[in-house]
Amino acid sequence: MHTPAVEPAQLLTVPASAPALTGMFPEELEAELASWGEPRYRAKQILEWVFQKRARSYADMTSLSKALRTRLESTHPLHTMRIAAVQGAKDTTQKFLFRLHDGRYVESVLIPANRAAFGEQSDRRTICVSSQVGCAYDCKFCASGLAGFTRNLRPDEIVEQVLQVEAHSGERIDNIVFMGMGEPLANFTSVTRAIRIIQAEWGIGIGARHITVSTSGLAPQIKKLADFPLPVRLAISFHGATDEVRERIMPVNRKYPLDVLMEALAYFRDRKKQKITLEYILIEDVNDQPEHAAALARRARSIQAKVNLIPYNTVEGLPWTRPSDLTQDAFLAILESGSVPATIRREKGHDIDAACGQLRLKQEIAEGRFPEQPPPIL
Ligand code: SF4
Repeated sequence: MHTPAVEPAQLLTVPASAPALTGMFPEELEAELASWGEPRYRAKQILEWVFQKRARSYADMTSLSKALRTRLESTHPLHTMRIAAVQGAKDTTQKFLFRLHDGRYVESVLIPANRAAFGEQSDRRTICVSSQVGCAYDCKFCASGLAGFTRNLRPDEIVEQVLQVEAHSGERIDNIVFMGMGEPLANFTSVTRAIRIIQAEWGIGIGARHITVSTSGLAPQIKKLADFPLPVRLAISFHGATDEVRERIMPVNRKYPLDVLMEALAYFRDRKKQKITLEYILIEDVNDQPEHAAALARRARSIQAKVNLIPYNTVEGLPWTRPSDLTQDAFLAILESGSVPATIRREKGHDIDAACGQLRLKQEIAEGRFPEQPPPIL
């Protein structure tokens, strides 16, 4: 593992209101360019530079006039964030720390092909992206929520994570999971816009079936996602199969208790005709006992979901510990004997759910930012 020094803080001079190019749809760019007197085909040409030819600046777009490039630069910045640090080696899981235009940080994680990613051995290169700066949902095992919520990411800031990690690694990514910092369904508009751009032929071109949205269980937004026309996949940060256990570690359960959540999941399953994944972090003496496994098996069976078990990885400043291998095996055996498809993810470097957010937290604390208070959600 290595961690390059974070570059000196430099804010990009981007007006907060400027819609960055990588968050725009072709028809929006077309309309804007038409109002400048440019031909319709110009939008297509520009988006080809961005997504197919992967131009890193407007200066690279040599088929455009200098005047047009200058105007675009001042109205629709191409890149508004940059990689501030990378942790991990090229052939292992790598964490990227991004500095945003307002000096905030988010993280992405790149998991190489042929490694177990999110419960499945995959020949795909997977990126785990963030959807918010911080998080309001305060799950008790998670570093992302430790400093509270700062703001939603814009669509371009989500798309950029994919483009920049690809540029840095020199590899095309073909699988995306919204399991980084933030609750993606609390930023529904930006996340779904980013998904449309990521999956579009004119965009990054990663099919929606290779995009997974992971939520802590916002029931109304799960139904909204079920009605979203693209076949994205759904994963739930489940972590407790009774209200008592779940409430202890996930305050969101007070607002959307399990019966409400299960009803929304059944709706999603019926609309999308897909298997939902229940993510379950095994925490010693909290949710790792045989009765917890039996309750989880019942819940999973009721919606034909699969379960991905993740033995807890220590997070600095949090009190939880990982159960023994014996306890983990016993838990898995109960699921399997209950006919629930289940996997266990033991490779440490890949256990990024709980650890996600730590890199950003350290950086923000180093810069003297104090944790902000999460807004009330209940
Ligand atoms: S697990 Fe997800 S929803 Fe919960 S605090 Fe962490 S980032 Fe937020």
